[in-house]
Amino acid sequence: MDDAMTALPLVFDAPRRGMPPRHLADLTREEARAAVSELGHPAFRADQLARHFYRGVTDPAQMTDLPADTRDALAEAMLPGLLTVVRHQTADNGRTRKTLWRLHDGALVESVLMRYPGRTTVCISSQAGCGMACPFCATGQQGLTRNLSAAEIIGQAVAAAAAMANGELDGGPGRLSNVVFMGMGEPLANYARVRKTLDALLTPAPYGLGLSQRSVTVSTVGLVPAIRRLTEEGRNVTLAVSLHAPDDELRDTLVPINTRWKVGEVVDAADAYAKKTGRRYSVEYALIRDVNDQPFRADLLGTLLAGRLAHVNLIPLNPTPGSPWDASPLPAQREFVARLRAAGVATTVRDTRGQDIDGACGQLAASDSVGVPSVAVPVPSVEPPVELGAEGDE
Ligand code: SAH
Repeated sequence: MDDAMTALPLVFDAPRRGMPPRHLADLTREEARAAVSELGHPAFRADQLARHFYRGVTDPAQMTDLPADTRDALAEAMLPGLLTVVRHQTADNGRTRKTLWRLHDGALVESVLMRYPGRTTVCISSQAGCGMACPFCATGQQGLTRNLSAAEIIGQAVAAAAAMANGELDGGPGRLSNVVFMGMGEPLANYARVRKTLDALLTPAPYGLGLSQRSVTVSTVGLVPAIRRLTEEGRNVTLAVSLHAPDDELRDTLVPINTRWKVGEVVDAADAYAKKTGRRYSVEYALIRDVNDQPFRADLLGTLLAGRLAHVNLIPLNPTPGSPWDASPLPAQREFVARLRAAGVATTVRDTRGQDIDGACGQLAASDSVGVPSVAVPVPSVEPPVELGAEGDE
């Protein structure tokens, strides 16, 4: 493996600088009502503000159930604008849209909205950059800038729900049905804020989007203690584990966190999660030509997962600029699938949306990040793509 691609350190502790102002979506209902009272308004104004926020209303003038002379002050104090659209890019005949967002400190993150026949999914970012250093992932190569606040994460889903309601994606007005944490960042490295985000996604109006547990997927490199914590505190959302190799020797290089928590520990933690929730987890596996796509590795993966509550989601690699790696050729993909299925493991190959807008898995890197405050590691000189994947079909 190319040294230049493995030299990044693992970063767990995000820089503290840069966190945005407090927002209603960072607070519980009780906290929001207390905050509004402290500002000298009746507590129920918090519920009204929440309803506007989760419906995607951002202009105080449209908050007509608030007294006209309080709208601006209340909105400024409780609903500060945290996400500014830098640009939208569409693909797949207008059914995929990637949005580049600028945060209050200039950091950039991306989300991708994908419309399918029976559902619409938004792929959201939980951190600006990522500290997990996976060498095949554009975001991983950027390093970690900072954690997003709960409101910054929730805001991406709210914007997606509003875009669907307003008919901004081809196909007319619709409803956001699914959220996947497969954008930039490692969600379980920003645990508390992601946990708050799950509450907001699942809570019915006015304090949330009212999505169903099974339609929300948290994807992780395999932070075992955080998986166990999620199991205990659970919101019973779907779990996806980015495995990418069945053996520790290879996984140590592809998913560097494996040097801390091994393959066996990760699948054991995922099993416990599945047992608790009664729902299969997905195993994400990017097929990389001649790196992890050999028939013997398919057999190893089959042996590892047979009998577990797991489903394998194969993702042909989206090569990132400057990477020596490529996607597995079709015959190798087919052989890999056949061997897994022969072992009795449910397997699908991911339909990758938005490749022409760098909106595919592993390519989300907010590529015009020139001028952003410095990140934990140097920004690569190449323009990384980003991506966000379509989640696997159920
Ligand atoms: N940190 C989380 C979310 C990352 S993005 C995680 O690791 O699970 C979601 C998925 O895209 C992960 O499975 C990730 O490994 C995968 N991915 C990253 N870069 C990729 C690439 N270049 N090609 C294909 N999949 C990639």
